[in-house]
Amino acid sequence: MKKKHKCIVCGRVFPEGQGIILTYGGVELAFHSSKCASKFLKQLLDRVPPDVLGDYVKRLVEENLEKLRELEKRKAKKI
Ligand SMILES: [Zn+2]
Repeated sequence: MKKKHKCIVCGRVFPEGQGIILTYGGVELAFHSSKCASKFLKQLLDRVPPDVLGDYVKRLVEENLEKLRELEKRKAKKI
């Protein structure tokens, strides 16, 4: 029998291979949909003070924007 997970946001049970499973600090975070995952992300960001996570969030945003700029540059070259 396939392993089952329980969504920690809405409680829905779903089979392995579906949904989003993350492990953070030894805790399994199971979400049956990206909607539930984003709900949890919002709760997390509401709870963690910006002086704890702020620098990491800023850096991640910058890294992602940099990647997007690279992609756009590559696209522009092809045309
Ligand atoms: Zn859910």
